[in-house]
Amino acid sequence: MSRRILEVQSLSVSYGKTPALRGLNLHVDQGEVVCIVGQNGAGKSTTMNAVAGSLSGRRESGSISLNGIPLQGKSPEAIARLGISMVPEGRHVFPEMSVLENLKVGTYMRPNRNRVAQELDTIFQLFPRLYERRHSAAGNLSGGEQQMLVIGRAVLTDAKLLLIDEPSLGLAPRVTEDVYRALLKLRETKGLTLLINEQSTNRVLRYADRIYVLRGGEVRLTGTPDRLRDGDTIREAYFGLP
Ligand code: ATP
Repeated sequence: MSRRILEVQSLSVSYGKTPALRGLNLHVDQGEVVCIVGQNGAGKSTTMNAVAGSLSGRRESGSISLNGIPLQGKSPEAIARLGISMVPEGRHVFPEMSVLENLKVGTYMRPNRNRVAQELDTIFQLFPRLYERRHSAAGNLSGGEQQMLVIGRAVLTDAKLLLIDEPSLGLAPRVTEDVYRALLKLRETKGLTLLINEQSTNRVLRYADRIYVLRGGEVRLTGTPDRLRDGDTIREAYFGLP
């Protein structure tokens, strides 16, 4: 039986008077790849930021829990310690630091250094290009390599649930495919659970176990790719066209 990891219930968020999410319900089970798809401004990043605890000062109602533990009121650091790591949009690497140093940033709080070393090996096996460039400054990597670096860094924090905001942004289609293949492999080899924001309906139909289509801060459609593959249904939910 599937085990519920993340549960978001009736989440509403406003930036000042602007509502960004209106009563959003969403859940993620252990080992799932769940994708949130929607246009610019649909509310995808707001959903992730709410889960990661980085929406301080915004008006929020509803509830979010991880393995049954309520997350409201917890700091981003406390939420990270519970096993959630967020990879924000835009690939924030430390450009002057080497690839290896960037990867190690998330590991300093972890006491078991042998385990960290083993996991670093796993990351390098999964992303051989990062191994080849481990002594290069992260700022000199390509966009795809930087995306892999920030994903690797998030994994090394010992996260169980990764929140990845638009990993394909600005990447060539072939590079995006590589990133998604690596993400699926991470799920397989490390048993990670993934919540991913995307703008492309084609991609979510290909890679997700389950999909939420967001528009105007509301879930307009949800289900498995098999159920949603009927192009018209998903397009209608995405664009709001009849
Ligand atoms: P994108 O792909 O552009 O990041 P998104 O689906 O992630 O889009 P959000 O960034 O969550 O959408 O935005 C949802 C709504 O909230 C939009 O109307 C947006 O303009 C608004 N919004 C987001 N961040 C802020 C902010 N810091 N201040 C005011 N309004 C905001």
